[in-house]
Amino acid sequence: MALQEAQRSVDCGGVPHVMFIPSAGMGHLLPFFRMIAALYGHGAVVISVVTVLPTVSVTEADHFDQFFEKFPGIRRVDLNLLPFDAAAEFLRRHGPPAEHSSIVICHYPPPTYQSLTRAQRRSIMALQETQSSVDGVPHVMFIPSAGMGHLLPFFRVIAALSYHGGVEVSVVTVLPTVSAAEADHFTELFAKFPGIRRVDFHLLPFDAAAEFPGHDPFLLRWEALRRSAHLLGPLITGVSAVITDVTLASHVIPICKDIHVPCHVLFVSCATMLSLVAYFPVHLDNNQKKKAATGGVGDVDIPGVRCIAQSWLPQPLLDLEKLFTKQLIDNGREITKADGFLVNTFDALEPVALAALRDGKVVPGFPPVYAIGPLKSHTSSTSNDNDDKPAAAGSPVACWLDEQPVKSVVYVAFGNRNAVTHEQIREIAAGLESSGCRFLWVLKTTTVDRDDAAELADVLGDGFLDRVQGRGLVTKAWVDQEALLKHPGVGLFLSHSGWNSVTAAAGVPLLAWPGGGDHRVNATVVVSGKSYNCLELLSIFLKGFANDCT
Ligand code: UDP
Repeated sequence: MALQEAQRSVDCGGVPHVMFIPSAGMGHLLPFFRMIAALYGHGAVVISVVTVLPTVSVTEADHFDQFFEKFPGIRRVDLNLLPFDAAAEFLRRHGPPAEHSSIVICHYPPPTYQSLTRAQRRSIMALQETQSSVDGVPHVMFIPSAGMGHLLPFFRVIAALSYHGGVEVSVVTVLPTVSAAEADHFTELFAKFPGIRRVDFHLLPFDAAAEFPGHDPFLLRWEALRRSAHLLGPLITGVSAVITDVTLASHVIPICKDIHVPCHVLFVSCATMLSLVAYFPVHLDNNQKKKAATGGVGDVDIPGVRCIAQSWLPQPLLDLEKLFTKQLIDNGREITKADGFLVNTFDALEPVALAALRDGKVVPGFPPVYAIGPLKSHTSSTSNDNDDKPAAAGSPVACWLDEQPVKSVVYVAFGNRNAVTHEQIREIAAGLESSGCRFLWVLKTTTVDRDDAAELADVLGDGFLDRVQGRGLVTKAWVDQEALLKHPGVGLFLSHSGWNSVTAAAGVPLLAWPGGGDHRVNATVVVSGKSYNCLELLSIFLKGFANDCT
């Protein structure tokens, strides 16, 4: 009721919202289509239609297609049915079945799994067992979050699993995505791996702009996903295992526990950051017990890992009221109940953090942690691909790099969703210009790529592009960064130290200029074992680079 209220006031601007839940068979569907068309023509009403795909008959599928094409304003609500071995059940009860005639829609909107009776749960579990013994193929469902830094590692693991074979893979997909880059990459994934099942997931209405004005759109998407996560139960039911993102952990893990589906977290940052996420709630509880009079969060001394100074924490964590902080604390408390962690790192890079997590020093009884990094690009995962050959060969940026001397170019990039202010852009531009270095700068001026309408020349200031012509290239386009980093022309990487960028930069000197999120923690890993501070690092790298170039 509250949701309906919210939807009425938020989504539909006071317009009523009618949801049609038709059944199967053309005799049932046609009257629905007619009724819906009439209502649509009448206007002043939001309409959604619960749709089960694939339909029983081709005719039904054709009619659904035509219908949604004709009335694009109607919202299609995809419903995935619970597993139901109709053939076996009806054969037992009634002899030969009448073709598929009794598809049962269990619940819509799906209730939380908790609201099912014990008998219902038992029958679902029995169906799961039937399904696995019939198919004999494990089915892994991925529930990723949002933002390219979160999606790319998922796509890489999904691609690796799909190449490996012997497993059915489905991917919970929320469309439209926040950014165009995410949409492009989803399209590419499903085109490249047609065997992967796309499970469309529709979010509940959430007036993010009103509730959290001015917040990062990706953080808001995480929140929207979290608020709709209870609807995932029926989608998850029947799968062999779930792999989800840490941003959704506190909502997805309990659902999986409830239906006895193993749930792993694919952690897209470093193991040190994982130890911080796991330990941060304990740190706050300890502060509470000590009634710490400091008033602040303070340095976080992660047992067995390292002490992270307050100034090196993700800065939103200093304010416990921030949405990011609340999400992180919730997730941090719940992740101890996951069945395991897959982390994009490797033992040689983070031996201390991995050992502390595995030995239960960070949090006693912490689930198993598997270091599966560095993850290989999903665009170059075929066994035939030659790892040394840059996949970006032939792109305009790669062609430009081809013309530059070996190890002469500073590659400057700050990830996919870290907008640099115009003031900073001018400062960086001035620095690059006066350094005399060759450079390739992948510039993002907005958090969401779709909002980026600025002209390069305007952002960079009068004459900059002319003055650096030949030795400097600036682009706002999406580039295949991993491939570019393998290009022999690149000699130094100036990075915001997003974890994917750091791990892809192996072999290229990295100058870390950490921004928000986990960047500072990642930067400490980059220099792990050393006691450099940022300025020392900067001078070390620049000195080395200048020597190399001369
Ligand atoms: N990326 C890319 N091309 C671009 C921008 C970003 O390939 O034009 C990739 C980059 O290689 C990395 C990811 O997007 O894999 C960004 O993740 P990261 O953890 O480095 O930073 P975030 O954007 O999450 O802060």
